[in-house]
Amino acid sequence: MLTLPHFTWSRPATVHEALAELAAHPGECLMVAGGTDAVPNLKHRLHEPRRIVSLGGIAELRGIRIEDGALVVGALTTLSALSAHPHVREHFAGVAQAASLVASPQIRNMGTVGGNLCLDTRCTYYNQTFFWREALGFCLKKDGVRCHVVPQGKRCVAAHSSDVAPVWIAVGAEVEIAGPEGRRRQSVDDFFVGDGVHNNVLQSGEMVTRVIVPEASHGLSTAYRKLRPRAAIDFPMLGVAVGARGTRERIESLRVVVSALGAKPRVIGGLDALAAGQALSPALADAIAVAAHKQCHPLINVPYDADWRRDMVPVFVRRALGDAFGGAA
Ligand SMILES: Cc1cc2nc3c(=O)[nH]c(=O)nc-3n(C[C@H](O)[C@H](O)[C@H](O)COP(=O)(O)OP(=O)(O)OC[C@H]3O[C@@H](n4cnc5c(N)ncnc54)[C@H](O)[C@@H]3O)c2cc1C
Ligand code: SF4
Repeated sequence: MLTLPHFTWSRPATVHEALAELAAHPGECLMVAGGTDAVPNLKHRLHEPRRIVSLGGIAELRGIRIEDGALVVGALTTLSALSAHPHVREHFAGVAQAASLVASPQIRNMGTVGGNLCLDTRCTYYNQTFFWREALGFCLKKDGVRCHVVPQGKRCVAAHSSDVAPVWIAVGAEVEIAGPEGRRRQSVDDFFVGDGVHNNVLQSGEMVTRVIVPEASHGLSTAYRKLRPRAAIDFPMLGVAVGARGTRERIESLRVVVSALGAKPRVIGGLDALAAGQALSPALADAIAVAAHKQCHPLINVPYDADWRRDMVPVFVRRALGDAFGGAA
């Protein structure tokens, strides 16, 4: 049986109290929201904090609102609530779809938007028991000095594995971060960095409070497609998100984001030049799919064949385009 390590536990009632707890014990705390990822990771000794700060009692972090035309989603909102919300389903179908494809119903009822955004990266050589990792000599993400995926590499390339994050990027969402200096906002795209050890910009003492989809993003057509072996529960081995403006007959702008490759979701470059002003013809869909294929290079960081995952990139890009614009692409 895998046991939890020893830690002290606190349950702040406000963001202010949570920040005070983090500030009082720098480097010692792990925040836990739904706990669906943090608890298994604690049992695997992937996290070894002295203190757990449970965010579950902070009422102001719950709920979905429309504020000045923007969609505002509290960090403690569950994935079930996000996927069922009428405004999200009507205006950001891809977001609702991605949330509905995370794990299983039980996990979506507990798992939160903030925890999903801050999800630790995953790797075949990392998401294992202490005993398993020790037998291999650990790796540079934790306790070791070598990467088993890219042995000559100096950086961890563990896979970004959140289903919802790529769609947040596709719709131009922003994240609100609270810390000792107050609150700041930045794009979800810039929230992530390409280092699998810690793949976001959060500093010790900071937390995510909300995700905001600006009013300007309303009217986008959105979609999310996920490749995974077992539809009932598995993490993505590939995720493709689309955020597009315009119609099938005339695309105005197009953003395609591919995730579960490396530590940061990849925004496919050069698509506006290909697609803006064009109709979604089979030839254009092929050109977009080929561009994505060229720019995506899955690694052996998740336990499925990397060549096959790469072959699936154009297939899933075409399917996601079809979903966004209605009908096959
Ligand atoms: C069997 C299984 C299958 C899964 N499948 C998927 C899947 O298919 N797709 C997917 O996306 N996820 C999957 N997950 C991961 C996870 O369940 C979800 O991503 C979930 O949304 C995480 O939310 P949580 O509230 O439970 O996060 P927690 O486990 O509480 O926290 C996760 C991380 O986020 C940090 N954190 C939480 N809230 C905040 C905050 N407000 N500010 C700063 N940091 C914060 C925690 O410190 C921790 O590092 C799976 C998990 C399991 C166990
Ligand atoms: S990518 Fe390399 S360093 Fe990162 S978790 Fe995997 S084996 Fe470890």
